[in-house]
Amino acid sequence: MGMGIHGVRLDGHKNTVNCTPVEMPIPEKVRLPLALLGANTSTFLVKKGDEVAVGQPVADQGKGIGVPVYASVSGTVAGIEKLRLTSGAVVDTLVITTDGKQTVWEGVKAPTVTDRQSFLEAVRQSGLVGLGGAGFPTWVKLDAQVEYLIINGSECEPYCTADYAALRDFVSDVAEGIELVKKYIGVEKAVIGLKHPPKDAEAAFKAIPGAQVQHLREYYPIGAEKMLIKETTGRVVPGGKLPKDVGCIVINVNTLAYLARFLRTGMPLVSRTVTVDGSAVNSPALINAPIGVSVGDIFAAAGGFKTEPSKVIAGGPMMGVSLDSLDYPLLWQNGSFLALNEKDAKLPEPGACIRCGRCVEACPMNLMAFQITKAYRAKDLDTLKAIRADLCIECGCCAYVCPAKRDMVTSNKLAKRFMADEAKKQKEKEAKKA
Ligand code: SF4
Ligand code: SF4
Repeated sequence: MGMGIHGVRLDGHKNTVNCTPVEMPIPEKVRLPLALLGANTSTFLVKKGDEVAVGQPVADQGKGIGVPVYASVSGTVAGIEKLRLTSGAVVDTLVITTDGKQTVWEGVKAPTVTDRQSFLEAVRQSGLVGLGGAGFPTWVKLDAQVEYLIINGSECEPYCTADYAALRDFVSDVAEGIELVKKYIGVEKAVIGLKHPPKDAEAAFKAIPGAQVQHLREYYPIGAEKMLIKETTGRVVPGGKLPKDVGCIVINVNTLAYLARFLRTGMPLVSRTVTVDGSAVNSPALINAPIGVSVGDIFAAAGGFKTEPSKVIAGGPMMGVSLDSLDYPLLWQNGSFLALNEKDAKLPEPGACIRCGRCVEACPMNLMAFQITKAYRAKDLDTLKAIRADLCIECGCCAYVCPAKRDMVTSNKLAKRFMADEAKKQKEKEAKKA
């Protein structure tokens, strides 16, 4: 079977689809991590006691593929705190106590963009990272020569509606973002992948020269990068390769809207729209929140909990991560937070594998999910390599369809980490020999 016909159909639970995003009250403090992917080399530009304003750079981009970090509130730097983030990384964060004024930094001004180089530099300076989940710096993604710009408007995880809101409320910004990328990066074809788009969105995209709207099929994970590329262009990204290796860049609609706004105003990425939902939440809502605010403050802005949450998730129910507290700061790539009551959070007891093969049928990457678990338990590196466990995109389709309720995603994640660790050890060994 070819890739693209696997996957599963999920209940949408898009409870917030008709909600207008609301501004949350200014929190008492925010905590801003160093530029995530450049975190080992970036440094803070301000110190304890300094006054900061919205849009002021507070950390440099470091070396390599980082982006600068900007104050999301105005106030005073209270110090530096080491924190574990929803991404799993443990990094220094800058604690800013707010003054409630949200004064904009005087240095915020629209960048001058005249060509590809100045465009890429502006995107880097915008602090923009992929808002669809992975948090990869946008300027790195755009620094490619490709045939297709693919716009991800599918938002295929249940509950999540922040991208839908961008398509409904800011479709002209999204369209402008597409035109900017086409112009400065020199991409001729743009394919906008949509599922149940809001009225008017389609017409706005069809007006862009060289752009084509594609209605996506109703299956999960159609919004996963590799699936979307296959679905829109027919191209298959080989294992270990990137979209640009098959001539594609995939960008999320919210990311494009921010990009267009930054080029117009010079205001970097300091806040984002977040879906807050789940059976333990009082009033599911779309909240506009400053980066670095605590997850607890975001839930409070949605009316708090109607019952004690048994599980809190950053992201969607399929690919999100469970949080052990509400103290995590909002990251640029966090598009949703869910709180589930005891009934919804309860995981069924896993049974023995009955070799039904449903997990294999459901896997969008054509993997043998049950074998990955088995090979990982046996720490059988050769088999893990042979069955390409490294290609697992952690989408959860296998576990979702498993009649024995086996949690293959956790063991697949561990298997991937095991493979990466072993590869690193091997490299070190070879380096010593050389
Ligand atoms: S989690 Fe991995 S193994 Fe399971 S269906 Fe998704 S890609 Fe396949
Ligand atoms: S779906 Fe579950 S029971 Fe069926 S083969 Fe896969 S792991 Fe085994």
